[in-house]
Amino acid sequence: MPSTRNTRRFCSLLISFALLLGLCACSLPPGKSSCTLFAMDTYMSLTAYGENAEAGLEAAADTLRSLDKLLEPETEGSAVYRLNHGETVQDEAVLSMLHTCEAVFEASGGAFDPTVYPIVKVWGFVDAQYRVPTEAEIQTLLECVDFAQVTVTNTGAGLPDGMALNFGAVAKGYAAQHAADAMRAAGVESGILSLGGNVQTLGEKPSGGLWEIAVQDPFDESVSVGTLSVGGGTAVITSGSYRRFFEQDGKTYHHIFDPRSGYPCDSDLRSVTVVCQDGALADALSTALFVLGEEAALRLQAELDTFELLLITEDGRIVLTGGLSDVFTPRKDSPYVLSYPQ
Ligand code: AMP
Ligand code: MG
Repeated sequence: MPSTRNTRRFCSLLISFALLLGLCACSLPPGKSSCTLFAMDTYMSLTAYGENAEAGLEAAADTLRSLDKLLEPETEGSAVYRLNHGETVQDEAVLSMLHTCEAVFEASGGAFDPTVYPIVKVWGFVDAQYRVPTEAEIQTLLECVDFAQVTVTNTGAGLPDGMALNFGAVAKGYAAQHAADAMRAAGVESGILSLGGNVQTLGEKPSGGLWEIAVQDPFDESVSVGTLSVGGGTAVITSGSYRRFFEQDGKTYHHIFDPRSGYPCDSDLRSVTVVCQDGALADALSTALFVLGEEAALRLQAELDTFELLLITEDGRIVLTGGLSDVFTPRKDSPYVLSYPQ
């Protein structure tokens, strides 16, 4: 019947049209571009959305590579190498990080101290030649650990003879923030950067709304403990003993040191996640609070009130500060007990 044939034709035309619309709709969302790179001894992944995404990624990657060069303490000629070899350094990035370090050194009562670098080195965490140093070696090196002796002004910085530092505890947060700025300057309004699990967001998600940031389970790195929903510009930075360690004679030695003892700190925390609008500060704080432990970390958070915390304790609890109560979604089958400090 012709009418049936016409109806069929009309239907197939409609379906083709719908399919075409569907195809167009698929290519309509803003372009997403991603890239990975290795810098600062870390695998980094960068994602940008929108028509300037490619240019944004290039600008961000350039920023990360040049900061890597500048801050590499063992490369002759780098700003940190020169600082560690008696020169006065005026570089803007170095001065900015030193100001952050100074603030966190003071706030943490010295638990955070970048001049612990010779200790980090003698334990083999710089060249991956891990070893347990002798007590005498540690005591000798501790004589030159004291950030209070670093001179930092707005125009230059210098160290006393024999002292050396590195920005391992603050550089990734600083770099991520500046790479995000470079993306924005290249015309990107939405993007996300992960520097070895330290996350910096830029703007809103391309579809609008909050970013969902997974927090790794420090007892089983293949899964997350849940997600944090955060707004644009927020940094989510984690420190933990599980990140880098070696074993000798049945004992585990990790990479976050107590600057007073010269040994890996004996923390009651397994990981510290800091949520903050300032990436460099978040990074320095995550290391500092790991050294300080649960009680002092929560006290400092309440006192400063400029950041939020997700702590995972050695005894398997997740402790969240008030600002994260509506922000954290635990994994469905999570074995953790959630608690909120009083
Ligand atoms: P993060 O992964 O941000 O916690 O930084 C850890 C890195 O910071 C280590 O690999 C060391 O290079 C350095 N570091 C270790 N302990 C301290 C400390 N107490 N204060 C400052 N930097 C530290
Ligand atoms: Mg840190």
